[in-house]
Amino acid sequence: MRYEIVIGLEIHLELQTRSKLFCSCSTAFGQEPNVNCCPICLGLPGTLPVFNRRAIELAVTAALALNSEVQLKSRFDRKNYFYPDLPKAYQISQYDQPLARGGFMAVEYEGESLTINLERVHLEEEAGKLMHAGDSIFDSDYSLVDYNRAGIPLLEIVTKPDIRSGHEARLFLEDLRLLLSYTGVSDCKMEEGSLRCDANISLRPPGSAGLGVKTEVKNMNSFRAVEMALNFEAKRQELILTDGGVITQETCHWDEEKKETIPLRGKEGSSDYRYFPEPDLLPLMLEPAFIERLNSSLPELPFRRRLRLREEYGLDKKEAYLLTENRDLGDFFEEAAKGYKDHRNLAKWVQGDLLFQLRESGKTAGEIDPKLLVELLNLLDRGEINRPVAKELLAEIVQSGKSPQMMAREKGLKRISGRDELLPLVEKAISENPDAVESYRQGREKAIAFLVGRVMALSAGRADPGELNRLIKEKIGN
Ligand SMILES: [Zn+2]
Repeated sequence: MRYEIVIGLEIHLELQTRSKLFCSCSTAFGQEPNVNCCPICLGLPGTLPVFNRRAIELAVTAALALNSEVQLKSRFDRKNYFYPDLPKAYQISQYDQPLARGGFMAVEYEGESLTINLERVHLEEEAGKLMHAGDSIFDSDYSLVDYNRAGIPLLEIVTKPDIRSGHEARLFLEDLRLLLSYTGVSDCKMEEGSLRCDANISLRPPGSAGLGVKTEVKNMNSFRAVEMALNFEAKRQELILTDGGVITQETCHWDEEKKETIPLRGKEGSSDYRYFPEPDLLPLMLEPAFIERLNSSLPELPFRRRLRLREEYGLDKKEAYLLTENRDLGDFFEEAAKGYKDHRNLAKWVQGDLLFQLRESGKTAGEIDPKLLVELLNLLDRGEINRPVAKELLAEIVQSGKSPQMMAREKGLKRISGRDELLPLVEKAISENPDAVESYRQGREKAIAFLVGRVMALSAGRADPGELNRLIKEKIGN
């Protein structure tokens, strides 16, 4: 590419409150359309919005986690535009006095760390949801509107134009989602629309300080789509510029089917929205003690936790990274580590077999008692069960939450070991397979493996193969 790519993101995040930002309507997802609506949501005459304290707490928490400077005084404004998803024909948002200014996030990037600076973090209300009949928004006969979502508290995070590729945008978003889900401010579900992202993208000659004309890309429904859409849009702009053309400032729609960006309309400037202070709300004044309280109750954030996991438990970089991928999994590991001292072995089981079983069953680590895994690993370490049995029992632990000690006893899964227990099985296998015995005596070592397999089958997998190998050789050896 002959140009440098310049990307800034606007992220919208639904905050995890039970009621909306300015009224007591429920924020529950997936209900009948238009049941969670009231005259305040609809902005009917005579109604007044009232702040949801919880939404402000969550917004401030997110701003603090993003190193953004929370303002003691901020203000709400009306952003006026006419569109069917907006029942009041204006959205209560923040314009020139946002909740928090600046901030940054460090992104881990192939062993290096990349810092993305933030412009601002502000609070606003969510719009309703439009559903277009037909295959695409370019040819629908009619549209339906659901106002359940209108008025849900929405956090807008605006980055500075610090991102240089679609790939970097994706890495930033992945780390942002991790950070915000750690703080519990949002469930960050892109598929349910609680995390959305729009991007501004422009090109400039390498080394130049100015910014080129930008386009805005919308409708990207996954992190993968963000990466693809931005790469596509950068190429589209490059072709125009290389041809001597000019970029028009406009909004583009990402078409997931065709994998291309399609220019939709001229981009509005902020003057098009006729912002003015919301007359129904006083400015938001925060006490320093309120901010301090939220700051001190911030959980340990993923970046810090990775470092601590490595120091405290002797894990390597990759292990620490995997264990911070969600908060539950790290909590599970640390709880189990209290009762089990081989931390590397524990980490392997958590990231490997446990994670696999969790995915299979659709459960989270928070639903499983860490003590059960400790019990299982102790059984295995003491040699009372073998590895295949341990794996089998782990699946049951995740399914039913039963004690592995009890299950091993009930099912007779404990390992068979010792000469007295194994010898009858070995003798049975030898007498049933004279050909294999003969073949071993003629010098074919491989025949042993076959006999070991026979005894393993007779013991239902509970014998130790090493021990069997020795015993069989002793019985049939010359
Ligand atoms: Zn309402």
